[in-house]
Amino acid sequence: MNSKYKIVIVISILLVILSLSITTVNYVVSLNTTQKQLKDQSLPLSLDNIYTVIQKHIIQPYLVSSMMANDTFVQDWILEDEKDHTKIKQFLRSVKNKYGMFTTFLVSEKSGNYYNQNGFLEKVKEDNTNNKWYFDFRDIQENHEINLDFNEHLSNSMVMFINYKIVDSNFNYLGATGVGLKISYIDDMLKVFRQKHHFKVYFVDQKGKIVLSEREIIKEKTIDEMIYLRPFRDQVISKEPASLEFEKDGQLHLLNTKYIPELNLYLLVEANLADFTKDVKQIFFLNLFVALFISMIVIFITIFLIKNYNKKLEHLAGKDQLTNINNRRIFEQRLSTHMDLFRRDKREITIFFMDIDNFKSINDEFGHAVGDRVLIRVAKILEENTRKSDIIARWGGEEFVCAFINNSKEDAISTTQRIRERMKKDYIIKELVHFEVTASFGLTQVNEEDNLDSVITRADNLMYESKQDGKDKITMGEEN
Ligand code: GH3
Ligand code: MG
Ligand code: MG
Repeated sequence: MNSKYKIVIVISILLVILSLSITTVNYVVSLNTTQKQLKDQSLPLSLDNIYTVIQKHIIQPYLVSSMMANDTFVQDWILEDEKDHTKIKQFLRSVKNKYGMFTTFLVSEKSGNYYNQNGFLEKVKEDNTNNKWYFDFRDIQENHEINLDFNEHLSNSMVMFINYKIVDSNFNYLGATGVGLKISYIDDMLKVFRQKHHFKVYFVDQKGKIVLSEREIIKEKTIDEMIYLRPFRDQVISKEPASLEFEKDGQLHLLNTKYIPELNLYLLVEANLADFTKDVKQIFFLNLFVALFISMIVIFITIFLIKNYNKKLEHLAGKDQLTNINNRRIFEQRLSTHMDLFRRDKREITIFFMDIDNFKSINDEFGHAVGDRVLIRVAKILEENTRKSDIIARWGGEEFVCAFINNSKEDAISTTQRIRERMKKDYIIKELVHFEVTASFGLTQVNEEDNLDSVITRADNLMYESKQDGKDKITMGEEN
């Protein structure tokens, strides 16, 4: 293969490898950065944000519930056998309205009566599952708890109850009171996290039950139903925060957890890495496209430049630097081609060898630069008086050659004579050297036995004869 194309191929391969490796390295780095950022920053930050929001929303209801439990009116009213139901109804209603709660309630241990802002509701019974919360709460150590309940009784949404124990001055248990508030803000918050940040957020209790989530998003009821989470059960249901990675539907997911003591729940924030690497992937393909496109342009420019330089080099290699006509090498090359054709097509080829007479004295008298200009002018005269199909060249020094291709010998002779005359009479040369510059010619026709050397040697010898004969002459071969 041509070496110039080898260079282009090597450059192309290097460029493509370079652009591919740069974009790939870039891509891998971005991918890792995205994953690391997600795991170490975005997910933990989201957990903290959610926790802060929940804390903020819980403080007030906590205070209100505590205030209700410690209200002497409430304690006295129970101790005085819950005489007037409207009193407790008014109390519960005013608290509800004042603090914008969804519901307020009170359960008396003694009577088992359940009151809310509308008055008496029911009697709590141990065998009623709806009342189970009360008996569970009664039996715990703490004096308060948060209870999340999906209560169709009250509304068809998740309600957060803050239960407080009512005790008398001797710490005897009197009942439970507190507030219930709709936690739609949590649902809204979860929605925002999913839509804005592509995070799936849910809360899990001690048993692994999913107690709080966007209902339509998470279908499973417990984390045990989430096959991919099963191996991490102990890490999820743990007071220590965890940062997990697992495969789900063939895609890498990240999951961070945090224990929320106020709710006694575990907050889980899950992210599908693919949601975060979409941009990185797009940028990768864009980069790849740009890199390959630029590589293509560079390759095309390289090809163009190499071709151009090659042409110039080839041109320069075949030209005589001073006169800008063919040099000896190109002359021989072209004449040789024509001699091959001559053998086939019987074309006539006549060549002359020409040597400027007494050129040394021109140099000596007028300087080398003038000598050069004479040579340039002689080349010009040769160019102007021959046809495009003829081959003229500077053989070397002050010697020139010309091959008349497909031209009769007579025409070749007359052209040679014309060249000789023009040279002698050329006014530019006359201006340069103030006398006629002559040359000696040897002219011969190519015959069938000739090779390059033989025909040039013959012409050179004939030229030498012209010199011997007093110069400024054309000596012709006797071939016909
Ligand atoms: P003759 O009539 O026998 O050919 O005599 P001559 O002086 O022409 O021949 P000779 O071979 O003694 O001298 C040729 C001179 O041409 C010598 C050399 O310095 C000069 N010459 C060769 N190349 C160049 C060139 O490129 N520029 C100039 N200015 N002179 C050159
Ligand atoms: Mg000479
Ligand atoms: Mg000479």
